[in-house]
Amino acid sequence: MEFELYIHIPFCLKKCLYCDFLSTCGETPDVIDEYMEALCTEIKWQGKRYRGVVTSIYIGGGTPSIVPLGHIETMMRTILTSFRVRRDAEISMEVNPGTVTATSAVFYKNCGINRISIGLQSANDEELRLLGRIHNFDRFVETYTHLRRAGFDNINIDIMTGLPGQTPAKLAETLSKVLILKPEHISAYSLMIEPDTPFYEKYGEDAKRQEQGLPTKELPTEDEAYELMKRTQMTLKNFGFNQYEISNYAVLGRECRHNIGYWTRVPYIGIGLGAASLLHPEMEENILGRGSLEHRMTNTRHLYDYIDDALILADIDAKTFWMDVPIYDGNIDVIPEDAMAEYCYLGMRMTDGIRKNDFYRQFGERVDVIYKDALAKLTREGLLKEENGRIFLTDNGLDLSTYALSEFILESEDSM
Ligand code: SF4
Repeated sequence: MEFELYIHIPFCLKKCLYCDFLSTCGETPDVIDEYMEALCTEIKWQGKRYRGVVTSIYIGGGTPSIVPLGHIETMMRTILTSFRVRRDAEISMEVNPGTVTATSAVFYKNCGINRISIGLQSANDEELRLLGRIHNFDRFVETYTHLRRAGFDNINIDIMTGLPGQTPAKLAETLSKVLILKPEHISAYSLMIEPDTPFYEKYGEDAKRQEQGLPTKELPTEDEAYELMKRTQMTLKNFGFNQYEISNYAVLGRECRHNIGYWTRVPYIGIGLGAASLLHPEMEENILGRGSLEHRMTNTRHLYDYIDDALILADIDAKTFWMDVPIYDGNIDVIPEDAMAEYCYLGMRMTDGIRKNDFYRQFGERVDVIYKDALAKLTREGLLKEENGRIFLTDNGLDLSTYALSEFILESEDSM
């Protein structure tokens, strides 16, 4: 059995104004030490609990690059000794500009990390200030240079479109400054105005107007946001990037294997604060016996509870039933109908779409029978195509992906 690992390090130097990720700032060094000890305890415990081979590891956050290097080294050693990690596993870590030095870049490389994802968001300093980011573009270039000099040949840069006041010219500036650096991968996300963030207070009303296609005050209108997204897509494609997913572009062979695993429903174990896992029955045979359903487990989202609960794992048998495992906050049985819908709406985020044979192999059902109505409707609307056993969204379908992908959820609900 193969699976992926996600490791969550929730600490940041400062909370960005739009951020609703599970991240925290201002924690004392003692708390960070305790968290990293708890994290390693959970890694060891999960390593005993689940059998199989790890194909990729993603260390996300938060800002993992603000954690002292000794902790990263211990964590990496703990992962590599607790799990069977494939020799050629992709091992990614998220960093933020201004938090990597020449020394730490080399250190990460020597620890076995082979892919880096940098949160740039914009190359325009005014936009970075508006987002509440800690860096400016020069700091980003320093960070990028340290990583390249350390030998990282697989780097992702995150950028954002749809920022308040973002014009096509400002976006073009970001794109050209990023492209000059020749990264292997670019993730381009549209800004989302999430509840319970300072941005929601400031732009929440504007975001509603944008959604309804009405004139906006500071955010781009719906049409302008679409235009910014399309320009990004066109520019990146013109520069040889392959759009392999709605928001992700890569030079050939540098697609993020970890994320592809997620979109193709490869099981994963999430370790750390609030981390989620998707567990296949085979992985749990030694705990639950044969024939159980897939499970989605979630760790507690409370930092101090997580630290206390994960440290106790050292004294808990690795085969303990989930209800008696203190770190878990929830467990959902994934019924086959949900797994099938998820397979379609995650898989069709990728430009390659899904393969009918793979669907049949996984579920013993035919996708064109189960989703007969959704497939017919989306094909009729020109949003979906089938070619050589592959079903995928057309360019129009990718533009309207929220609507198109929701059809699979609706049809799945209708059939229940
Ligand atoms: S660096 Fe990332 S995780 Fe941290 S606050 Fe900013 S957006 Fe959130």
